[in-house]
Amino acid sequence: MVIDVLVIGGGNAALCAALMAREAGASVLLLEAAPQAWRGGNSMHVRNLRCMHDAPQDVLVDAYPEEEFWQDLLKVTGGRTNEALARRVIRDSATCRPWMRRHGVHFQPSLSGALHTARTNAFFMGGGKALVNAYYRSAQHLGVQVRYESPVQRIEMDNGRFVAAWVGDERITARSCVLAAGGFESNRDWLRQAWGQNALGEWPADNFLIRGTRFNTGVLLKHLLDDHGADAIGDATQAHMVAIDARAPLYDGGICTRIDCVSLGVVVNQAAQRFYDEGAGFWPKRYAIWGRLVAQQPGQIGYSIIDAKAVGRFMPPVFDGVRADSLGDLARQLGLDAPTFEATVAAYNAACRPGTFDHTRL
Ligand SMILES: Cc1cc2nc3c(=O)[nH]c(=O)nc-3n(C[C@H](O)[C@H](O)[C@H](O)COP(=O)(O)OP(=O)(O)OC[C@H]3O[C@@H](n4cnc5c(N)ncnc54)[C@H](O)[C@@H]3O)c2cc1C
Repeated sequence: MVIDVLVIGGGNAALCAALMAREAGASVLLLEAAPQAWRGGNSMHVRNLRCMHDAPQDVLVDAYPEEEFWQDLLKVTGGRTNEALARRVIRDSATCRPWMRRHGVHFQPSLSGALHTARTNAFFMGGGKALVNAYYRSAQHLGVQVRYESPVQRIEMDNGRFVAAWVGDERITARSCVLAAGGFESNRDWLRQAWGQNALGEWPADNFLIRGTRFNTGVLLKHLLDDHGADAIGDATQAHMVAIDARAPLYDGGICTRIDCVSLGVVVNQAAQRFYDEGAGFWPKRYAIWGRLVAQQPGQIGYSIIDAKAVGRFMPPVFDGVRADSLGDLARQLGLDAPTFEATVAAYNAACRPGTFDHTRL
């Protein structure tokens, strides 16, 4: 029997497509590159869904209107956002949760310590792993066929219409295909090529750690670009790049590797110099930009320095920090030039205005 819809990929986009196609009565086969234990792509690492709402909802407080969501999106993208698509996503975020619940997804209020998110983001109970597990369970229940360890290398098209997908030597035909196989974020060669060399002769991407799945290698993106004349749009160096602990594993470190205290202290590079306003765009930009900022520094390394007052005010890191009772001692432990580091911190402190500061009320 010919399959109606072949879904390539096994993360949130693929699973939602598979479930909706099946609900509409189509026969569906889903091909996931990863083995079952690692299924779910980057979606298995997520925590929450940013939701527009005009009044308090179950796990969301106050309101987060369309216009504010749109302005937040403009800030993180520097204005380069497709308005029609973005507004569609924003509006649908207000109404998609009942559908998600029907497929077994549970929500919980924001964690304490996760700034401002009680208003803007609905958290998945059990995180992204529970989200994708719920979808896979529902897919199985509805009769979606799922195959793991099935990376698609190429697809066949005829006059712009999908004909078949190839997994190794196997040719799989279907009436239609949804390609939802992620980006190229775990393809280190592609990242290297996109980022190139910096003025110091370094290849910054060689020092990147990929906190998401290792299975998003962009094989199909490349195939579509090279062999099917797909248009390349956007900038291959742009991404939601988060500053994570340099001791994190190369892949799949997930959210617990994120450095969360950036905006509560100062960040210096290997030359013991600050390179950006740590408090700028406190929310929601701070996560999305700091990976890129650190990537532009020598050695792609930064040091986030906090004093004792900040401890307990951010999500605790999974790796221990270096502690010292003086700036000089801290600099020595971090391998920074102590006089320069002390001067950097002194200049920062001298610029601070007296007063109280409550990061939960910005
Ligand atoms: C650590 C982390 C935390 C995040 N937190 C959040 C959050 O809290 N909220 C939020 O909205 N976003 C978050 N994101 C972003 C979010 O994960 C992605 O935007 C989203 O998961 C993308 O979904 P997707 O289905 O397009 O891709 P993915 O979920 O990455 O799925 C891609 C799938 O395609 C499969 N695949 C790849 N190549 C092939 C191939 N050739 N053949 C077959 N299958 C293939 C992969 O194995 C994978 O299953 C986070 C990302 C990371 C890394």
